[in-house]
Amino acid sequence: MEQELITLQNQAKEQLAAVERTDQLEEFRIRFLGRKGQCSTVMRALGTVPKEDKPRLGEMANAVKKEIESWYTEKQQSFSASLESSSNNSTIDLTLPGRKPQTGKLHPVTQIMNEVCSIFESLGFSVAEGPDVEHDHYNFEALNIPAHHPARDMHDTFYVSDSILLRTHTSPMQARIMESQQPPLRVIAPGKVYRCDSDITHTPMFHQVEGFLVDRSISFADLKGILTIFTQKMFDKDLDLRFRPSFFPFTEPSAEVDIACVICKGKGCRVCKHTGWLEILGSGMIDPEVFKKVGYDPEVYSGFAFGLGIERIAMLKYGIDDIRLYYENDLRFLSQF
Ligand SMILES: [Zn+2]
Repeated sequence: MEQELITLQNQAKEQLAAVERTDQLEEFRIRFLGRKGQCSTVMRALGTVPKEDKPRLGEMANAVKKEIESWYTEKQQSFSASLESSSNNSTIDLTLPGRKPQTGKLHPVTQIMNEVCSIFESLGFSVAEGPDVEHDHYNFEALNIPAHHPARDMHDTFYVSDSILLRTHTSPMQARIMESQQPPLRVIAPGKVYRCDSDITHTPMFHQVEGFLVDRSISFADLKGILTIFTQKMFDKDLDLRFRPSFFPFTEPSAEVDIACVICKGKGCRVCKHTGWLEILGSGMIDPEVFKKVGYDPEVYSGFAFGLGIERIAMLKYGIDDIRLYYENDLRFLSQF
């Protein structure tokens, strides 16, 4: 019995020294100190020793059990201490603020589009949208651009079939709306347009806003008034602007509108090619031929139309010199707006 106790003590010491993890420590506890563990077995065996040896062996057995218990407790404490110190040394800083979820925002082109629409809505225009895939008729014929007209060359059209194409401008909406409604009309038509062209100022798809107003006795002065209010609201209240004669097959007379360069304020720089002016939109009085095609009497009605490129407005407003940046989907660029 004495020998058994000594062996038990030595075994416990040896096995505890090999314990490296908390699950191993728990196994050790069950094996030696549990209800069916080795210490309990020895205690039960005390009942069978001769009466005169009982007090001595009992005392010895208790001492061995206490010894094993204290080793166990010691090991347990060293484990929890090392756990604590490892969490102190780790790189987790619980005082740091949490990471905020990233919120999305509207694309700069969409933002400018919304801004342009809301300026014209405040002037009493309503918003209409039409198809991207369009008939040759609405894109060209109805706008006084018959087949073989030289103006078609400027449009670099994507054809779907002989008579179906991707619209090259938002102007087909003029014909579509005038065909189905009677004046007075005050409409803007925003949307995507397509041209087979790509460089730092052109992308194959871009956005335009078409606008037109038709009523009795509308003159060029009305066109100037509306577009002056628009450019001043869009850019700057004290901005200079000029109307420069131009040509579009569906307006007569036609004018391109320039604003004083927003970069150099008219002094001349690389962006305005040292002219001090930036072209922002095309406009004109609607050609009587266009009215005739939709059945309006040009002797009774007159009106004006204009079209502007959203990307161009956004480039001027934000001082961006390469249109392709809008479509590279680089969040470092897009999140600045
Ligand atoms: Zn300039």
